[in-house]
Amino acid sequence: MDTSTFDVIVAGGGPAGVSAAVAAARAGQRVLLLERQGCLGGVWTAGLLSYVFDFDKSGIGWEIIRRLDALGARRCDKTDAYPPDRDWVYEPEYMKFVCEEMCREAGVKVLLGSPVVAAARDASGRNVASVATESKSGRREWAAAAFIDCTGDGDLAALAGCGFDYGYPGLPHGQPATLNALVAVDDGDKLAPFVSNEPAMWTRDKAPDGTERSHHICATRRLKAALREAGVEPSYGDPTLFRLHKNVFCFMANHEYALRVDDAEAISEATMRARREIVGLAAALASRGGPWKGFRVIATAEQIGHRDARRIHGRYTVTKKDIERGATFPDAVTTSRFGIDIHGIDKKMNDAKAAGNSGGVAFRPFQIPLRSCIAKDADNLFMAGRCISGDFYAQASYRVTGSAVALGEAVGKAAAGGGQ
Ligand SMILES: Cc1cc2nc3c(=O)[nH]c(=O)nc-3n(C[C@H](O)[C@H](O)[C@H](O)COP(=O)(O)OP(=O)(O)OC[C@H]3O[C@@H](n4cnc5c(N)ncnc54)[C@H](O)[C@@H]3O)c2cc1C
Repeated sequence: MDTSTFDVIVAGGGPAGVSAAVAAARAGQRVLLLERQGCLGGVWTAGLLSYVFDFDKSGIGWEIIRRLDALGARRCDKTDAYPPDRDWVYEPEYMKFVCEEMCREAGVKVLLGSPVVAAARDASGRNVASVATESKSGRREWAAAAFIDCTGDGDLAALAGCGFDYGYPGLPHGQPATLNALVAVDDGDKLAPFVSNEPAMWTRDKAPDGTERSHHICATRRLKAALREAGVEPSYGDPTLFRLHKNVFCFMANHEYALRVDDAEAISEATMRARREIVGLAAALASRGGPWKGFRVIATAEQIGHRDARRIHGRYTVTKKDIERGATFPDAVTTSRFGIDIHGIDKKMNDAKAAGNSGGVAFRPFQIPLRSCIAKDADNLFMAGRCISGDFYAQASYRVTGSAVALGEAVGKAAAGGGQ
């Protein structure tokens, strides 16, 4: 088998992988980006996420903001008390385009439809020598001086035999997974009371039970009540609508519980069950008429979204102690400001408090050191995004895409420096 050689190979083209590849290429490296899906963007695009958190902090992040704005594809969650570019919604199709354009302009070689399925070590056993992909071109091998695992799930590091942790403490699986969807309705303005970012997530509002809460929580309560009145029960305790465009919304109403990232059969079953649920929920809402007139699914995500996954062992592991002390590090690459967000791990817990559980850990913004992005078990293997080295609680904070982009950018530059 022919082996093609690059300076840096990035596995996975999500928020972290695109940023890592662009940063390494801009540092003068020949970069190959291997992506299993037919588009770049990961959970942003194939997962139809539509909402980003903790974003206003990295150079590439600001570029993404500017490019989406130029395309009219971003809506800010602006309030007087809240930094305008920290959390926002975007249109996933334009995010695909932005990711591709940034890679093209930086000179990154992108291979879509090319999952990494194997990794080989060099003679010393300390370095990853090559990875293999299986694609329409058959099995191919790719060598590099440095590798970056941005698969979100930590596939490359696991294939290379690196150690990792996974799951909620004491359980064999992690947080619930979700299949997102895009929906359309005849008149989007009429849905405002049910929409989390109309006018803005964090303004104060009155919930159906009379308590004062954030507008987001009040909107989800109203949406859940509307679903129940329509005779259906969402599997997610806080079903959510985000407005993306005039009459187009992201619909996040599904949770698949106890699903592992490494169980293809269970993932397939969960994905199809979720799609059935989404189509059923939409039909029930549409049948109510009024603001729900014309409510239809226009797309479901290509891939079900896993909130957490393998946490690859690094040279440092970020833990809940670091969160509680608001840790700083001499080799810090970014600061996570998004609070610990643990979703209820079964339907009962989810109905009681769907998201935003902290697991009893007091949150302070904490830094993430570069050492937690370098594999403990391989000298030329880096990680960026949600598969870096951290405990369950740390990952429940830094998993959001603002951190993924900042980590990708810093790690791409570090890998361009030649590894360890
Ligand atoms: C349902 C859900 C809701 C969320 N809500 C928010 C939110 O509101 N705001 C927010 O900012 N974050 C949110 N997150 C978190 C965030 O989306 C992810 O943690 C984030 O996308 C992590 O970025 P990443 O680049 O590490 O991984 P991913 O986005 O998962 O990207 C990984 C990429 O690697 C590819 N890949 C995987 N395996 C392989 C392989 N073997 N070979 C080649 N390519 C591979 C994937 O196809 C994908 O493109 C949410 C996540 C989920 C699932």
